[in-house]
Amino acid sequence: MAGHAATTDTAAISVRGLHKSFGPLAVLKGVDLEVARGEVVCVVGPSGSGKSTLLRCVNLLEEPTAGTVRVAGVEVTHPDCDIDGVRRRIGMVFQSFNLFGHLSVLQNVMIAQRRVLRRPAAVARRIARENLDRVGLAEKADAYPAQLSGGQQQRAAIARSLAMNPELMLFDEPTSALDPELVGEVLAVMRSLADEGMTMMVVTHEMGFAREVADRVAFMDGGAIVESGPPAAVLGSPRQARTREFLHRVL
Ligand code: ADP
Ligand code: MG
Repeated sequence: MAGHAATTDTAAISVRGLHKSFGPLAVLKGVDLEVARGEVVCVVGPSGSGKSTLLRCVNLLEEPTAGTVRVAGVEVTHPDCDIDGVRRRIGMVFQSFNLFGHLSVLQNVMIAQRRVLRRPAAVARRIARENLDRVGLAEKADAYPAQLSGGQQQRAAIARSLAMNPELMLFDEPTSALDPELVGEVLAVMRSLADEGMTMMVVTHEMGFAREVADRVAFMDGGAIVESGPPAAVLGSPRQARTREFLHRVL
């Protein structure tokens, strides 16, 4: 990536000493986290612990109060950073799918390609179809979001992100709004992305997914990462009492 502050640091994401306050409320209290290229890191922890805020600081949907965030060696917290350029390289999938209801699935997957990347319609259409196929929705290209299940809508939202050719993907509780029987199809798509080598940072309550797919699990509580490591260690034999208490509640 062209730009200042590129270093030999090849981490996909590097967060150092990150603090974020909303007025008097300190939400992130010194977070350090590295995600290597091709790595899948799951962030778990209680509601209100700062997981979404951390994810949103990575692509500057929130402006950090202190600390640095680097994406592919570029310091996004630097005042001169071309944040739009960096954001274009980061896919983000939220709990709510936010598809345009008046556009077909295909058009939903084309629109940012057209407007942001300025791809010609034929190219955007081809890439949209490829990515709908990738998430198992090829036959729904001409459907409208309201005609899809929640799981299909979330897969369409993932295809929309993938069509932008992101270098890394951020997921914020992508299955939390889904009926239980629809969770698996979305996790299966995420698992296939991980298998393809996509760098992923995933906030989730799906401990089975974290255990099986994550290279590393980070447990957050009270605005800090309390412990992190391989899933078998953090989820299987946590060292911290707070991690154990959380896992007892959710498992
Ligand atoms: P999590 O995703 O772990 O549930 P969040 O990062 O969403 O946690 O929120 C952490 C804390 O920050 C919560 O107390 C929440 O109310 C607060 N918070 C998040 N966003 C804002 C905001 N824009 N303004 C004020 N407080 C916020
Ligand atoms: Mg959240």
